Amino acid sequence: MSGIYVHIPFCHRKCHYCDFYSVANKARQTNFHSYLISEIEAMASYLTDTVKTVYFGGGTPSVLTTEQLKAILKAIHRTHPIANDAEITIEVNPEDASQEYLAGIKGLGFNRISIGVQSFNNGTLQFLGRKHSAQDAIASIANARGAGFTNISVDLIYGIPNQTIEDWTDSINTALSLNPEHLSCYHLTIEPGTLFGLWERKQRLKAIPDENSQKYYDILCHMLREAGYNHYEISNFAKVGFESKHNSSYWNNDSYLGIGPAAHSYNGSTRQWNVSNINKYISCIETKTPPFEMEELSEIELYNEEVIKRLRTSEGINLKRLTTRFSHKWVEKLQRSVAPLISLGLINHTDNRYFIPEDKLLISDSIMVDLIEND
Ligand code: SF4
Repeated sequence: MSGIYVHIPFCHRKCHYCDFYSVANKARQTNFHSYLISEIEAMASYLTDTVKTVYFGGGTPSVLTTEQLKAILKAIHRTHPIANDAEITIEVNPEDASQEYLAGIKGLGFNRISIGVQSFNNGTLQFLGRKHSAQDAIASIANARGAGFTNISVDLIYGIPNQTIEDWTDSINTALSLNPEHLSCYHLTIEPGTLFGLWERKQRLKAIPDENSQKYYDILCHMLREAGYNHYEISNFAKVGFESKHNSSYWNNDSYLGIGPAAHSYNGSTRQWNVSNINKYISCIETKTPPFEMEELSEIELYNEEVIKRLRTSEGINLKRLTTRFSHKWVEKLQRSVAPLISLGLINHTDNRYFIPEDKLLISDSIMVDLIEND
């Protein structure tokens, strides 16, 4: 199974916390899709099997017109075999989500929509530097339904300084009342290159204490479980059958092709990453120079990736699968290093699987450190 990711590197403006590669530059947007199409054509032979998932992310894909999106999708269909039942997702921001626009997108073949809500509290949205209001967010989900989407995902953020427990539970409750099929809920990270990073350096902003993070996470897990969602990855929750196939393919180690500035590609043995700069990207495409750097992954790197990716999921590391991908020495190494973590209750071992219990998932990074092999 393979996937294609298309990175649309434009936003209306930069949110205060965001370190994804994107720029607020309308002039560059006009013909940018033609460069993406050229890259799609140039990379036509990168994936060797049928494409099961296509994902337009960013940035803000919904800054593009339906005509531009149509041209990109057409190029993907022209150059790649796409499964009839492929999951085709687009990220949309509430301020762009009129019913007319969303109906246009639906008509192009997108069958899953991921809406960047982040919060249903206007004060929190303003603090995050989002352009939309809580009312826009509610309307966008209604518009997505009205446009015929039956697979809607909502993004929320928690762990925001000044966000009260009441604000957080209100946002979860509002999301649940709108009945999305999927929720992605991320803890705020204060990244150095963002406005929040600057505020932190100037001591105008401070990350919330770890014990509060855990409290917010526990509330989230509890409320979504009660509402019938399956917690299938640290930050992702879905009604049964609506788990994101695209994201799952990353955690399953499937191949993917990334198109656009800053996009990554992986084919099972090498990884490549496109330049994170629109002007350099355009100039590479114009001169037919590869816009990426590439590295061959060593066995240790592949093993570490498997451990890290699988432990993010509720299924965890499947020993049978590990045996098919790696030699016995790696399985033995894992069994040795996992034993103390099992006795500490940080890893569970059931049905030939090692997985992190739900209440410890938020600290999974610190647990994985003990399972990573060094050169
Ligand atoms: S959070 Fe989303 S909308 Fe905001 S700047 Fe980042 S990519 Fe753009």
